[in-house]
Amino acid sequence: MRLSIALLSIAILLTPTAATAHAVEPPPPAVRDFGNGPERNEQAAEDSAETLRAPAEELFHERDRGYPRQNQLPIPAENPADASIKLGLVPYHGIAARLNDLQKRSKRVSAEIIGRSYQGRDLYLVTVTAPESRDEAREQSRIRDRIQHDAAAAARDRGLPRKYKAPLFVNNNIHGNEWEGTDAALRVIEELATSTDPQVADLLSHTRLYFNVTANPDGRVNGVRVNGAGFDLNRDFVTASQPEVRAMRQVMIDTQPVTMIDLHGYVNGTLIEPTTPPHGANYEYDLFIKNTYANGLGMEAAIKALGHTPEADGVYPPQIPFRDSAEGWDDWPPIFSPQYAPFHGAVASHTVEIPLRVNGSDYTNLPVDELRRRSGINTAIAAAAIRATYGFVRARHDQLIADQIEVFRRGAAGEPSRTVPLGIVPGFGPEDVYNTTFPRAYVIPVGGGQRSATAAARLVDHLIANDVEVGQAKRSFRAGGRTYPAGSYVVDMRQPKRGLANVMLEAGADISPRVDAMYDISGWSHALLWGATVDGVTTLQTKAEPVKAAAPTGSVPRGHGPLALKVIDAKEVMALNALLAQGVAVTWANDGTAIIPAAARQAARTVSDRYGVAFTPAGSVTSTPLSQVRIAAATSADELFTLRELGFPVTPISTAILNGGFDWSGTDVLFVSSGLSYAALNPAAKAALDAFLASGGVVTRGSTGAAFNTAAGLLTATSIAGRGDANGVARVVSSTGPVGSGSPGYSFVYSPRWFTGLGPEVTVEQTYAAEGPLVSGHWRPNPDGTGGQDAARGQAAVVSGRDERGAAVVLFGTEPMFRNHPKGLFPQVARALYWSASVTGAAVTTP
Ligand SMILES: [Zn+2]
Repeated sequence: MRLSIALLSIAILLTPTAATAHAVEPPPPAVRDFGNGPERNEQAAEDSAETLRAPAEELFHERDRGYPRQNQLPIPAENPADASIKLGLVPYHGIAARLNDLQKRSKRVSAEIIGRSYQGRDLYLVTVTAPESRDEAREQSRIRDRIQHDAAAAARDRGLPRKYKAPLFVNNNIHGNEWEGTDAALRVIEELATSTDPQVADLLSHTRLYFNVTANPDGRVNGVRVNGAGFDLNRDFVTASQPEVRAMRQVMIDTQPVTMIDLHGYVNGTLIEPTTPPHGANYEYDLFIKNTYANGLGMEAAIKALGHTPEADGVYPPQIPFRDSAEGWDDWPPIFSPQYAPFHGAVASHTVEIPLRVNGSDYTNLPVDELRRRSGINTAIAAAAIRATYGFVRARHDQLIADQIEVFRRGAAGEPSRTVPLGIVPGFGPEDVYNTTFPRAYVIPVGGGQRSATAAARLVDHLIANDVEVGQAKRSFRAGGRTYPAGSYVVDMRQPKRGLANVMLEAGADISPRVDAMYDISGWSHALLWGATVDGVTTLQTKAEPVKAAAPTGSVPRGHGPLALKVIDAKEVMALNALLAQGVAVTWANDGTAIIPAAARQAARTVSDRYGVAFTPAGSVTSTPLSQVRIAAATSADELFTLRELGFPVTPISTAILNGGFDWSGTDVLFVSSGLSYAALNPAAKAALDAFLASGGVVTRGSTGAAFNTAAGLLTATSIAGRGDANGVARVVSSTGPVGSGSPGYSFVYSPRWFTGLGPEVTVEQTYAAEGPLVSGHWRPNPDGTGGQDAARGQAAVVSGRDERGAAVVLFGTEPMFRNHPKGLFPQVARALYWSASVTGAAVTTP
């Protein structure tokens, strides 16, 4: 389900554990609870203990062949431990054989591999449509391209919708332990493949139906929500850190669906979007809401027609948050698949939560017969939702295509954000109206005006991967009172996918005043959090040549002397860690610069090429020896992923692992954010940890980290908790200390914390700004008035110090590695790790 893990835990607590044959949960509240952070991290810590594998290479997705494309899918090894089996559902290893058989039996079915999961499982895209010759398929591609790239002409071409097969995307099982979308999809695919009904023939000659059979095979097999890396894939669409999400993104770009549904569980009665406010401000919401609400009502009617009742089988009637709830189930952040798809042209897009819970404690505790009864009903309801949706696409075929064209036309024309008329659908009131202001363009400068060339390149490549058009200025130009050098990147907001460009590049808004409860994060700006300088400008008078990738950024100066590498971006962290892994004799200066000896110039050239980093000649500097920083980490899965991505060797630990006996001799720094309680350590584990703390470094984050600091007697600091569900982009002010130095002016917070009562040994590295501090997101005070933005103003957000035993300690009250997203903040964590590992060494001065 889309529900947060914390809310899931609450739901488990509310649910009677002694289940009877037809026991069902009451409809859960469509709001999230507070204090979500720690529980999210505890869950993730469990997941992070799983063995990790390197991500697979993205596979090539064939575009311009005819249909069917009958690919013989490789059959995975049988896995008797697949969690689907207990529910009587198809195990992952059974899917390929089913699809191979259907391809043999029907010319309407094509199965392709569109990527691999984190743990290396194939991802299957099934296309169901009437056969097309190669020329016919090319004609469809041409029309699709025209809709996107020449929308004004497409809008004038009255004959276009007649010739075009409306694309529908059905996404399934993105949460691994919400299984039945996959089984419903297989059922519907088989029906469509084998039906002799003329209505089906008509449907398939006017549509292409695309099914992502299971978006999360790792989770399906393992019986968990997350993928093999411990990520919630349905939070990753603005970041695309996971291969499964990159595959879904590519499907949306390549197929350009007019409608999509994403099948989840479990909310009883079945939850069907559209959502409550706040609504994302970058959608063409007038077009979106009329179609999405209409299909929502259609799915509701189809599910009701199945005849389930609370009395007979425990199934409550469907609920539509837009119609039935005030707030708490919003479409504000485009981190969810149905909130991301509209930027690629979906004008109806839905999360659907099927009703009867079969995961969590129910999976463990309910009798198999009851689980299978529930899964059977869930599959039938999911199938009804799919059928209703393809019926909707067929019935509204021409209008949906026209509306998609209109989305891209408004973007290309650079029209202002529209205010949706009240009452456009019943119940659409002032509380539903959200707007934004599009700049004329965003400029991502190169040269001296750019904070980080590698960060700029990363952002440009990310935009391009999202099908946002990026150009490069041929000549220097002036805009917004500044001169930008030739080569600067320009994101012209007159483009079909300007909504997606803007939702990533605008600062966002502080929506605290408008809404009490948000479902998930409320701020994410790539322009503020990914480390690059990005300027919105209101005029644009320059020619920009479209680019397919950012220009290379690496360089090593000529000469023979030692080199300096300033660590202000994740790429510099990766390059430095690569040098350290080779045993290069690096020293570390506390302004965040690594000094590379002249003897390692060849190694520097290699990492400069690989990571795009720029070395400079090292001047005279005082620094201390730095070796590879080996981390023992009690942390969440996303942080573990990020630390490893940065190239740190990390050993996951927990209270239990330490109590079982842990050898600290291979650890330089302890990272604590989740799953470690000093008070719960046994005497032997405590003694071993205390011995480590005499020389080792410590970096902590969040409530678990702050509690560890206090219990272990490290720094003198009192940790104050902001409201638990507060999150977003916060304005911060950094010091010139070893961690603050070089930090951007913005950070990300989730359950923000700050530190008071600081001892004389403590240095403030970063404070929350006196202004705001929230730029975008949601941060209200608690009901008793504490924990709000006012209370955080000017308070210490990140502190460092040496405790009396000598340990070098850094405490984060911000969340710099959240879901692998705020990439511009990763180097701050790295600097904390380098400093805490190296500060105990003897200083050396070069040259
Ligand atoms: Zn879900």
